[in-house]
Order: sequence, then C-alpha cells, then structure tokens
Amino acid sequence: MRAAARRRPLVSYVLPVYDEQDGITAFHTELTAALAGRPDLDAELIYVNDGSADGSLALLKGFAERDDRVRVVDLARNFGHQLAITAGLDLARGDAVIVMDTDLQDPPRVSLDLVDAWREGAEIVHARRRSRQDGPFKRATAHLFYRLLRSWTDVDIPVDTGDFRLLDRRVADELGRYRERSRFVRGIIASMGYRQKEISFDRDERFAGETKYPLGKMARLAVDGVTSFSTTPLKLITRLGFVVLTLSLLGIVYALAMKFFRPDITVSGWTMLMVVVLFLGGTQMLSLGVLGSYVGRIYREAQGRPLYLVREVTGAAKDGDGDR
Ligand code: UDP
Ligand code: MG
Repeated sequence: MRAAARRRPLVSYVLPVYDEQDGITAFHTELTAALAGRPDLDAELIYVNDGSADGSLALLKGFAERDDRVRVVDLARNFGHQLAITAGLDLARGDAVIVMDTDLQDPPRVSLDLVDAWREGAEIVHARRRSRQDGPFKRATAHLFYRLLRSWTDVDIPVDTGDFRLLDRRVADELGRYRERSRFVRGIIASMGYRQKEISFDRDERFAGETKYPLGKMARLAVDGVTSFSTTPLKLITRLGFVVLTLSLLGIVYALAMKFFRPDITVSGWTMLMVVVLFLGGTQMLSLGVLGSYVGRIYREAQGRPLYLVREVTGAAKDGDGDR
C-alpha cells in the first residue's frame, strides 16, 4: 500500500507445483493473460517445484527463460503443499503476496480481485469458495473438516477457504517468523489478526491430473490443523476418562452386588468380561493416540530441522536473500 503511491506495486505469486505437467502450461498462459490486462501492476511469479517426478520442472524452467518475471525454486524433494508455500513466501519480495494452486482450481482472474481488495485497504484477503466442482466425497470430507476445525479451535478460520489468499508485505514478513514444522498455513494466517477480507469465487474443476490430497494427506492436514491450534482433543479425552470411570464404578458395584447377593451365578460373566476389557482397551488406545499426536508434534518441533531444502533457484532476479 505504502509503496503503491510511489511506483507500480509489485505483486508476488507463490505457486506450488507437484506433478502438474498436464495443466501447468494452461495455468501459466491464463495467469499471464490475466496479468496482461493489468498494466498498473508489476508481477513476480515464483513457481515452487515440490519434488515433481514428471516433466513439470522442465516446463517451469521454460517459462523462466521466456519471461523474466518468473523464478523457479526447485526443492530437494517433495516437502508437501504447506512447506512448498512456505518456501515461496520466504522468497517473495512483492508489496503483496498471493498464494494460489496451479491446477486452475483457483482461477487466475480472481487473484486480481484480491489485489483490488488489497488496494482498498485489506491486509489479508481470503478467497472463499462459493461453489466447488470436486466430487461428493471430497466435498463432504472438506465440509466436515472445516466445521470440526471451527468448533474445536480458538481461531476463527474462515469456512471453505483453501490456501488461495493475498497477504500484504507486512503480514508476509510476520508470517515468516512462524517457523513451526507441522504447519497449517491458512490457520496461522487467520489467527494473525490484521484487516481481513473475504472475496467469493466459484471454484473450478481441476484442469488436468488428479488431486495430490488423497484421504490420508487430508487427514494429516486435518490433524495438523487441529493440534496446532487447539488442545480440545486433550480435554475431550479427560472427559472421556470421567465417563469411563463412572461406568467402571457402576460395573464394580454391580459385580460386587452379584458376588454378595447372588453367589450362585458368579461364573456367568464371560460376555461382561469381554465387553469391559475391549471397551477399556479401545478407549485407552484412542486416548494414547491423541496424546501421541501431540507428543509427535513436540518431537518434530524439538528437532528444529530446516523446514525445506532447496536444490536451486533459477529465473531472472537472483538477488533474493534465499531461504531464511
Ligand atoms: N502440491 C504441492 N505439493 C504436494 C501436493 C500438492 O506443491 O505435495 C500443490 C499442487 O501442485 C497444487 C496445490 O498444491 O498446485 C494443491 O494441490 P491439489 O490440487 O492436489 O489439492 P486439492 O485442490 O485437491 O485440495
Ligand atoms: Mg486442486
């Protein structure tokens, strides 16, 4: 904003790419076409190749050769969507930074609406999906995930937003200070405060290829989302403990009563034993699992390893300061 008054504002695009060879060219063409309609903006396109095993990297390098606004960050392996975004954010130098998917599900033209909202004074602009073209299963799980997150976490993560959003320079700088490993970027951003705004858009179908978020990865992201913002699951297992304890006390009273008042049928309890043992075992395993996911987080954070490793950065402007 401040810089906008002096010169054309520089908008950085952070674009994570993982095995997108079939759609990336269409994406790039559409994005550059959208930008061509806005000569009042300077742009910087930071493609982060997140260890693609297909021809994506060669295509990206081709873009960089033909267009000096393009930089390509090649990560040493697949670090995952959230860390790929982080690598891009660390390198972005724009007055505003836009994070968007490269499968054309986040339409490039909408990013310009985000820029307009930013120029009107918003410091964080969320792009909210009014509709989405994914299959019913993905829709249902995503719906459940957002509702759960909303009721379990202390921060107000806007419902139905992915990682498609715009950050003011100031916010991007502050975000750079959050160095947790198991990160849920959209949650961190929502928790930061600042002037936030939402823009609605219709989410398109994936242009080519298939989702890189199969159920397993979605579940992990969901666990990261919850455990990085909330200790509700820990409170829930305490509550579960009380319920189980109450039931156990009732069971004990019943067992003792049977022993003293009906000593004739004390050996009838096989079913009862199985029920009790399996029920207690199950609840204990569940509780341990919840505890374990928090302990795992502590372990990963305590190791303090680098979040991602870069093989090389290619493209016009090499004067960036690299990763922090
Ligand atoms: N992506 C990535 N690393 C990964 C998985 C995905 O950089 O390990 C990128 C992918 O190329 C895409 C974006 O993250 O640009 C979102 O992934 P995807 O479209 O598969 O997720 P969905 O839209 O199905 O939630
Ligand atoms: Mg997608």
